[in-house]
Amino acid sequence: MQTISVKCKLQVPVELRSKIDQTLQGFADACNQIYETAKRENCWNTTKLHHKVYKPVREATGLKANHVCQAIRRVIGNAKAVKQVHKFRPTSLSLDARTFQYIEESQTVGITLMCGRVKFKLSIGNYQMALLKGQSPTAATLNKTKRGDYYINICVDLPTDPTGRTPKVIGVDLGRRDIATTSTGKSWSGKQIQSVRDRYSKVRANVQSKRTRNSRRLLRRLSGRERRFQEWLNHNISKQLVSSAKRSNSALAFEDLTNIRESLNQKPRSKTERRRTNNWAFYQLRLFVGYKANIAGVPVVFVPPAYTSQTCSRCGGIHPIKGKSYRNGKAFKCGRCGFEHDADINAAINIAVLGKSVSLPGSPGMSCQLQGQMSLFPTIQI
Ligand SMILES: [Zn+2]
Repeated sequence: MQTISVKCKLQVPVELRSKIDQTLQGFADACNQIYETAKRENCWNTTKLHHKVYKPVREATGLKANHVCQAIRRVIGNAKAVKQVHKFRPTSLSLDARTFQYIEESQTVGITLMCGRVKFKLSIGNYQMALLKGQSPTAATLNKTKRGDYYINICVDLPTDPTGRTPKVIGVDLGRRDIATTSTGKSWSGKQIQSVRDRYSKVRANVQSKRTRNSRRLLRRLSGRERRFQEWLNHNISKQLVSSAKRSNSALAFEDLTNIRESLNQKPRSKTERRRTNNWAFYQLRLFVGYKANIAGVPVVFVPPAYTSQTCSRCGGIHPIKGKSYRNGKAFKCGRCGFEHDADINAAINIAVLGKSVSLPGSPGMSCQLQGQMSLFPTIQI
């Protein structure tokens, strides 16, 4: 089972906005008050803290009983997760089985606010509906965005398909010339995203020359748009990768770039290499693939990244002279066996071959970790 949180927009009638805001403010006040007590008395145990704060907090804020319980959990959870807890702001409310209900027939949620139980319609698409189908979720978070929209993140447990080990592996090479290239010859070009980037940076340059308060606001909006576009693209690419693996009953193999800083300490890294490892977009793409694959029951394996782009995928040859490569930009031409291929596909094939040695027990080759279980991927919003 994997727990994911499904993000749904709430349809909030104007007259109910202040009711939600009142509860959000109460919840933030409660959290701040609880945090002060916990810090002052150095008490970070849920039950003990409950005894100390429950009554005074309920009296001070007028929140319902379960709101206060959730506020205590929120404070302790935050204190454990981050080094420094900042002031809680009135933008988020934790809900549990007593303060929240999802009603599938009407696509509504019942939420207990300070004023009592209120129903809201969800405005969601087929994707979210499919994830919520047949679920009776018992936890959710209500959030208010800077723009003043309300969203609810509903936690659901999804079963993952039981999977055997599969001998077929699709290798995926990320972010060299294209965003992603597979060993089966598919690729997603970086051109589209680059043109969007260029467009935004032009607008940004224009705006920056004006330097007004309005222009600062516009800049913030631009970066948000760019980010959302990248996110949309990554969702698309990961969806296609996972569905093609599922269709052909294959595993997906990626280079393991997570420890590249340590493992490549001795070698000077190229600009491209740095871009590939530090770029959050590639990290996000791998993350998206990870959880989509888990839901679909497609195994994902990670292979060591060394030499995947320099090795000939037919004969295994590497250029004998240090620092030289059979790869030349887009083209790969093996000096040993004469094999010629698209350089990125060649790299993806190498990744697939390495991935096979991982997913096939007992086969020779490098040993790597099989990343099979969900727990390695954090809960992310869809
Ligand atoms: Zn060769």
